[in-house]
Parts: sequence; C-alpha cells; structure tokens
Amino acid sequence: MSILDKALEANRNYAKNYDPMLGKRPTPKIAVVTCMDPRLSDLSGILGLPQADIDVIRTGGPAVTEDVLAELIVSNRVLGTTEILLLNHTGCGFTTFTDDEMNAKLRASTGDASPAPMRFFSFKDPEENTREQIKKVRSHPWIAKEVPVRGFIFDVDTGRLSEVKALEEERAA
Ligand SMILES: [Zn+2]
Repeated sequence: MSILDKALEANRNYAKNYDPMLGKRPTPKIAVVTCMDPRLSDLSGILGLPQADIDVIRTGGPAVTEDVLAELIVSNRVLGTTEILLLNHTGCGFTTFTDDEMNAKLRASTGDASPAPMRFFSFKDPEENTREQIKKVRSHPWIAKEVPVRGFIFDVDTGRLSEVKALEEERAA
C-alpha cells in the first residue's frame, strides 16, 4: 500500500474526531517563512506558539520568491498577521549543490534540457541568505513598515534559534 493510500485510510479516523470549529476562518498572528525540510515542521514546538497562530509559508531554503512576497502580503493584509519571521536552518539541502550543478545533472540524467536553466534557489550561507531575505521583505513597499521582519536560524543539532540581524542594524548597534 502506498503512503498516500495509508494516509487516506487514516484520514477516515481523523475525520471522526474532527472538531468543526477548526474549520472557522483562521486568525493567524505571525507569518513564518521556512524551509520545506521536515525538521522545521514542528513550528509550534520550536516557537512555543499555538498552531492556529502561525501562518506557514514553505519553500526550499526558504527562498523568498515573488510568490512568497505575495503570500506575505496576503498574510498581513488579508489574514491579519502582524509579524514576519524568516526561518532558516543549519544543514539545509539547498546548500549542497549550486543551481548550475543541478541543471547540469538533470540535463544529463533525463536527457532533456528544455526546462534549463531552472532556478532552484540554492545558497551557501544561511546567515547571508537570511540577511538578503530580510532586506527583500523589508524593502517591499506593500509590506507595512510597522510589521516587524526578523530572521532566525534554527540549529538542527541543538534545536536552538539564533537571530540574524540585518546589516544596517548591526552597524547601528
Ligand atoms: Zn532547508
């Protein structure tokens, strides 16, 4: 049986005890952009916040793409979140290759070059990645100035968060 067939079966039991109140309009308080990595899935535990308070936007890296910016704007302006967290982590799979390498590998292994060059948003340094993300989100004219935009790195070995300050903040400190 495939994982999804098992999941479908399990869902029938889940639905039996489902609280219909959970289906009401969500009122998340904070938007979290984080990596697709499963080690970042327990955000409620990592941040000590109720699941219902966290609006989660996930991409590999995480990459702050145009889509993610649009989702953050909707999160703030439609769903009502009032803070933004850009959550990177150590040991990210997206630091293990470059976009060029991945394109070359897929061209070779599939024999089809038509999607290349595809952007995978690979990166080398999570701190630098976080700083660029903060800058990108902070400078967007549709993200309200009063919404705090902060970047943290989750250490997958210790479970600890450390804050990454934007370069301007570091200079001012
Ligand atoms: Zn990752």
